[in-house]
Amino acid sequence: MQQKGADMDLKGKTAIITGSNSGIGLGVAEELAKAGATVVINSFTDRPEDHALAARIAADHGVEARYIAADMSKAEDCRALIAKAGGCDILVNNAGIQHVAPVEDFPIDKWNQIIAINLSSAFHTIAAALPGMRAKGWGRIIDIASAHGLTASPYKSAYVASKHAVVGLTKTVALETAGQGITCNAICPGYVLTPLVEAQIPDQMKVHNMDRDTVIREVMLLRQPSRQFATTEQIGGTVLYLCSPYADQVTGTTISVDGGWTAL
Ligand code: NAD
Repeated sequence: MQQKGADMDLKGKTAIITGSNSGIGLGVAEELAKAGATVVINSFTDRPEDHALAARIAADHGVEARYIAADMSKAEDCRALIAKAGGCDILVNNAGIQHVAPVEDFPIDKWNQIIAINLSSAFHTIAAALPGMRAKGWGRIIDIASAHGLTASPYKSAYVASKHAVVGLTKTVALETAGQGITCNAICPGYVLTPLVEAQIPDQMKVHNMDRDTVIREVMLLRQPSRQFATTEQIGGTVLYLCSPYADQVTGTTISVDGGWTAL
């Protein structure tokens, strides 16, 4: 059942978005729900507000939405998430964390945690979701990598390594699924205005004694030539494109949404 271009209709498709109770994951879930998909929201917490968030998305968009708690740092949780969802047509591997330290001081537990959440979780969810996608002859796997999947910055060794590796995983899965109605791609955002990034602006304004626009342009977006944040809606829209028939032959690639960062 193929939807038609601009009238994109994802009714009947189940989308699982890891790490989606905030930020980019939540933005992606909203766009998929707007397009009619059943959405599974996830994080490692299991609070009433997590389930309320899913209920709010269901009510806003007239779709089914569920919250399933699963810790993406644990192999068994990653695989259980896919099993508990009872189906997965669209898998968005989005859960991710960051830690900044020089490589020789980088805490070993932080390295292991970042590799587990940013990289290994995608291996586990993909492995668990693929048999169902193959049985249906349709599937979309979208890994939220980063501009740091294509280029490096100092002090972010684990993050940069994990994101480069996710791009490698994406290409490999694309080759293993080519011609089977399944595509696997990575989206590489530059700086995206998430609540986490928004919260850093007041501190940066104080530290640099600059107004909001100047701190965004001259400090935070120094490496992003557009000097504008990408938005969670734009990442969600890129996911929708990859779910559309226009992208049936787009597989094993990276799509940068980074205001020109990686063109430099
Ligand atoms: P965020 O902190 O708002 O969201 C991260 C999400 O992952 C949250 O929902 C969090 O609860 C979840 N999460 C963290 N640890 C988890 C775990 N162990 N198990 C399950 N869920 C877990 O951050 P964000 O900016 O929205 O980032 C989302 C993704 O986008 C990450 O992979 C990040 O690397 C990537 N990214 C973000 C930016 C940016 O500028 N914000 C840029 C490039 C790439």
